[in-house]
Amino acid sequence: MNILLISPEVFPFAKTGGLADVAGALPEALAKKGHKVSVILPYYQLVRKNGFKPALFKKNISLRINNREEVFNLLLMKNDGVDVYFIEKNEYYDREFLYGTPQGDYQDNAFRFAFYAKAILASIRHIGKQDIYHCNDWQSGLIPLYIKTHYKDDPMFNKAKALFTIHNMAYQGLFPKDVVPYLDISWDLFTPSGVEFWDKLSFMKAGIIFSDAISTVSKGYSKEILTSEFGCGFDGLLKSREKDLYGIINGVDYSVWNPAIDKFIAGKYDENDLNGKAECKKDLAGAFGIKYNAKRPLIAMITRLAEQKGIDLVVNIMKDILKEADFVILGFGDEKYNNIFKGLAKKYKGKVGVSVKFDNALSHKIEAGADMFLMPSRYEPCGLNQMYSLKYATVPVVRAVGGLDDTIQNFNVVTKKGNGFKFKDATNEALSGAIKDAVTVFKNKKLWDTLLKNCVACDYSWESSAEQYLKLYKNLF
Ligand code: ADP
Repeated sequence: MNILLISPEVFPFAKTGGLADVAGALPEALAKKGHKVSVILPYYQLVRKNGFKPALFKKNISLRINNREEVFNLLLMKNDGVDVYFIEKNEYYDREFLYGTPQGDYQDNAFRFAFYAKAILASIRHIGKQDIYHCNDWQSGLIPLYIKTHYKDDPMFNKAKALFTIHNMAYQGLFPKDVVPYLDISWDLFTPSGVEFWDKLSFMKAGIIFSDAISTVSKGYSKEILTSEFGCGFDGLLKSREKDLYGIINGVDYSVWNPAIDKFIAGKYDENDLNGKAECKKDLAGAFGIKYNAKRPLIAMITRLAEQKGIDLVVNIMKDILKEADFVILGFGDEKYNNIFKGLAKKYKGKVGVSVKFDNALSHKIEAGADMFLMPSRYEPCGLNQMYSLKYATVPVVRAVGGLDDTIQNFNVVTKKGNGFKFKDATNEALSGAIKDAVTVFKNKKLWDTLLKNCVACDYSWESSAEQYLKLYKNLF
């Protein structure tokens, strides 16, 4: 099959969250199975800052949008058997951030990502005919719409199938309806059974309605989004498409997340010998000005600083946490939380380490150096760090939602089965309780060693998830 994976962020070129890791690793896993796989993303400033210089593939490709002709360049870079294409249009993508600043979204995102969709479709004549358009998140939502409307009689497109994968229901690409005609979307489609969502245009709704199938990134979340609690207003629509809705858990790229070969960490270790982990803990504690103590747990988080991640609960119980443990967080996001955590670092100097930025190298050091990894998410479509943590013998403490619930089983001190600690309610008490359980087991060296063995034995490689995607692609024909 010719598969085009469309993602607004792709590791290692440009990343703000888990979607980039998926879009970096899944294509490679599919290509290894003998398919022709391409990936396409905007040529952001960040791609250059990360040191990549893709070559010019086709200059001045033109497209029509809003009754105007516009041009862009298509760039190409080969990466592990995958063709990675970039849409170069500097007025839209040559900016400091991908989607917006910490103060809010870029005002012209509707135009930026409608252009992205149109540019991808205009590029197909140069890239070659595709069988599968695998779209990810709202930024690619207009692609299925354009294929099924503007291109419905075009032999280059009319046999192709579109899969729309939702990595987060809460980001819906909502825009004032005035933009509708400017994006070449017919007003006929702006209805409640079309792309209208409470008098606004929703890119995500376009993706859901016009795709041949929809998937999300864990079985648990694929069920949760059919309820009003997690559906973010789309539960009814998703129910109407339930037979085309799938849940496929993300995998881990173990060539990137593996303490035996990780170039960012101080001591190497693997499932047979965890000794190097102590070196990593010393290194991490040192980096945050925390005194190293093998007997005191070091609890960590790496996260977008957004309400979704349950960080308010962590702030509420910080005093409690510090009675028995030290705490480090690497996070970036809402200005409010950027400041709250900076404040906590000052208040609890030597016990709390805070780094408010996006830092890939530091994220590896934290995975390796911490004893426990906290993910108290209010909802979590898949979650990747709990799976990375397992490989790094860093015990996940998670809320039982979505992908976290699917991948983490509570450690049972009697049967000695389980790979972490889980709690149900999004409350201070429930989170505190799970941390206390983890600390109690930490203090019993024999039990803790058993738990670490259970963690590192878990295998979440892409192999099986890539196989499930292939089966799904084939089912669309
Ligand atoms: P989400 O996609 O909702 O942000 P995931 O758990 O699926 O959450 O994936 C988050 C990814 O982003 C992980 O690879 C994590 O290590 C990374 N990440 C999040 N925040 C930062 C940060 N401040 N610096 C470096 N990496 C980060």
